[in-house]
Amino acid sequence: MNTNDSTTKLDFIRAIVAEDLKTNKWDGRVHTRFPPEPNGYLHIGHAKAIYLNFSIAAENKGGLCNLRFDDTNPVKEEQEYIDAIMEDIRWLGFDWENRLYYASDYFEQMYEYAVQLTKAGKAYVCDLNADEIREYRGTLTRPGKNSPYRSRSVKENLDLFQRMRAGEFEDGCRTLRAKIDMSHPNLNMRDPVMYRILHADHHRTGDKWCIYPTYDWAHGLEDSVEKITHSICTLEFENHRPLYDWFLEQLGVHHPQQIEFARLNLTYTVMSKRKLLQLVQQGKVSGWDDPRLPTICGLRRRGYSPESIRNFCQVIGVNKFNSTVDIALLEHCLREDLNKTSPRVMAVLRPLKVIIDNFPQGKVEEMDAINNPEDPGAGTRKVAFSRELFIEQDDFMENPPKKFYRLAPGREVRLRYAYFITCTDVVKDKNGQIVELHCTYDPATRGGDAPDGRKVKSTLHWVSAPHTIKAEVRLYDHLFTNQNPDDVEEDKDFTSNLNPNSREVLKNCRVEPSLAGAAPLSRYQFERLGYFCADPDSSAGRLIFNRTVTLKDEWVKIQKAQRKK
Ligand code: ATP
Ligand code: MG
Repeated sequence: MNTNDSTTKLDFIRAIVAEDLKTNKWDGRVHTRFPPEPNGYLHIGHAKAIYLNFSIAAENKGGLCNLRFDDTNPVKEEQEYIDAIMEDIRWLGFDWENRLYYASDYFEQMYEYAVQLTKAGKAYVCDLNADEIREYRGTLTRPGKNSPYRSRSVKENLDLFQRMRAGEFEDGCRTLRAKIDMSHPNLNMRDPVMYRILHADHHRTGDKWCIYPTYDWAHGLEDSVEKITHSICTLEFENHRPLYDWFLEQLGVHHPQQIEFARLNLTYTVMSKRKLLQLVQQGKVSGWDDPRLPTICGLRRRGYSPESIRNFCQVIGVNKFNSTVDIALLEHCLREDLNKTSPRVMAVLRPLKVIIDNFPQGKVEEMDAINNPEDPGAGTRKVAFSRELFIEQDDFMENPPKKFYRLAPGREVRLRYAYFITCTDVVKDKNGQIVELHCTYDPATRGGDAPDGRKVKSTLHWVSAPHTIKAEVRLYDHLFTNQNPDDVEEDKDFTSNLNPNSREVLKNCRVEPSLAGAAPLSRYQFERLGYFCADPDSSAGRLIFNRTVTLKDEWVKIQKAQRKK
């Protein structure tokens, strides 16, 4: 695909991979990995990293991509997250085959490597606490100071490190640190911590360990052990690369190339797991799979297809500059896919009863409805038409303003797949609320055209009252009112930008009977309304649909406006 096609411009990562293949840098191998920490659910930003790593492997002959859980912090990690992460990656359409790894499986090896560095005089046990370490580190403008424990003998270091492992010391009272340079211009190189003491149960290793490796120490080793060739990570690790390289060089082991790309940010949402966890824990959303969240399971429940997410990842590409992608682009990619794949059905969200006075009582006619105009193979279905129908409340106005072309007293409109109808009467209750409309239909307009050539200005969707089934429909809007949820007044946090109207539940919707058996997560287009997806909690006795996205594509507008600039 990409790499062999000289006409498409390669992104900078694929260009590096292609060059390495040309120079035979890795003996013709391409081996990437996706290394999530199991401390939360995956989000759309992770999808970008997953897509990148798995695609680069797939595009190259013999290329491989590992799934590796970077489970080095026992306090925040759980099996629940591991299971969810695997389910989400599979759902996105990627396969790690038999290459499932855990950083915790390498703890012994990492310990050995640490002993090796200590023996070489390149690591030492330090008794400074976290605050003191920070103080000694200095700043960008001020060099650090050597720790008073920096000159311990190799023998003493080995003894203390072994006793750290054996559990002789309290949490936080000692660390193992690399001995590099306390005046290095890069703060990450000022004797970084490699191990901290933490008497905590690990979800896989139990109480076997009470020292845990830091990210910087562990990550390169994990890559090295797995013989990764290209270790692709996000931009915030660029400053850590010298350290990644230093550790692997000192050990003289397999040394992958770390390459950084810009992480995905999206408007109107938050992506950090810490913030997502906060929303879940504080009950601001219904759970990790709340359809308003950018988590993969939330998007799935909302009705996103894996194809639409993959297409989005392809469209946004990769680069080296942090930026924020308009969520309208994600929704555009979604509509493109759903338009091709979703069966059309008719559903009325806010029903208004319509009685066709000149249509015989008890009579039912079957109308032919097209299942998907984008897919002729999808065929047609029969839709019942009868004397009592429901239309959408906002498709009728008693006193229509100028540009309102839908139903109004005395006005004729088309009912999709059926007839022209004309409104003859409006019935109200004692509060003045409209409760039903009376109409007449023109039997000559069956199928939607008048033999005398007269035109109507609008076509409405509808359902036959005695044939419909009730459903609950949940409408969603952006979770935040501000494009950038972190844009807040002092003393406030991002939750102050939560959109109080991000979810609206409609309980009295009416849908056509073909939806009776809608399987959880099946996707539809409700004609004229948008794309909808059966919620996992939906059942034959209680249908629930989530609105995935409306039909109106904001992205097209945004692009036009950009072109004009
Ligand atoms: P977060 O900051 O959202 O909590 P993280 O970086 O701590 O995420 P990890 O589990 O460490 O989450 O991420 C696994 C991989 O996914 C890493 O390689 C990371 O760089 C990548 N990744 C995480 N967030 C994004 C993002 N927004 N865009 C692209 N890649 C991302
Ligand atoms: Mg992380």
